[in-house]
Amino acid sequence: MIVWGAKGEVANLGPQASRHCPTCEKERPFHVILQYTVRHIWYVFKWVTGKQYVLLCDVCQRGNKLDPKLVESRLTKPPIPFATRWGWAFLAGMVAIAAVFGVLDDSIRSTSREAYLAAPRKGDRYVVNVASLLKTPQSKYMYGVLRVRAVNAGSVEFDAPSIFYAGPTGPTKDIRDEKLDAPGYFSPAPISLSRDEIARIHKEHAIHSIERGAQASLAAAP
Ligand SMILES: [Zn+2]
Repeated sequence: MIVWGAKGEVANLGPQASRHCPTCEKERPFHVILQYTVRHIWYVFKWVTGKQYVLLCDVCQRGNKLDPKLVESRLTKPPIPFATRWGWAFLAGMVAIAAVFGVLDDSIRSTSREAYLAAPRKGDRYVVNVASLLKTPQSKYMYGVLRVRAVNAGSVEFDAPSIFYAGPTGPTKDIRDEKLDAPGYFSPAPISLSRDEIARIHKEHAIHSIERGAQASLAAAP
């Protein structure tokens, strides 16, 4: 859940020389005030909007807006705290880091896929858009798990899925949740794919990922 909000803030930038106040119709002391709105996400990622400098009469609290460029050129230090001004940058940084990890994840997935494709092994789990294998698929996207049963010279025999998804997330999750050994997950009849066929569906980008290990050894555990 995203928690966000806004809060009005005021910074007193110090007293000014007394001058005539048109409201009080008298000589009055004045202050320069900075009004701004702090907007935040989760109270940490902050940024500032609606910044306004005003010259206010100390007595009636009325006054005029000031040219921000003029005021800021005279400031010795920024009146708004650093974390308030730059909190958003941390969020931007986290988004950038997440993007880098996303790219990294893609690249690792693709590297392992190439290596496992070149040398298939019993128990490898392929997340595949099975629609690529069917002459008349029910849908353009039918992602499921193909599990290697046997590796032959010119072909690979797979357990064929009986459960399909619209994207690769569903089957990937099934592998992670160890659902593959549940009765009925695979259809009773295995399928055999020639190396050429596997190369073809790979060329069509139908093979999303290949996982090896973990589950394959589970069956051997006592
Ligand atoms: Zn006044």
